[in-house]
Amino acid sequence: MAGGWARDGAVSEQIEASISDELARLKARRSPEGESLTHCAECDEPIPEARRRAIPGVKLCIDCMAERDSAFKARGGINRRGSKDSQLK
Ligand SMILES: [Zn+2]
Repeated sequence: MAGGWARDGAVSEQIEASISDELARLKARRSPEGESLTHCAECDEPIPEARRRAIPGVKLCIDCMAERDSAFKARGGINRRGSKDSQLK
């Protein structure tokens, strides 16, 4: 049982590391400020002027951003729920 718990921890550490790797790579590749796209990098939808002003360097439309956010949250939620279950048992 202890072995299983340790493995869960290792997996979530790996996921967190890959997310920050990804962010670092994105930051290195393009300057995050002053370079808002007029059209979404994912689906080519126009990004509203107000959104581009609100988020300097925005690359995604609202739909794609929400999709990406929920993908991150879903992964985090599953991991957190999993380790809470094993602690309760
Ligand atoms: Zn989009």
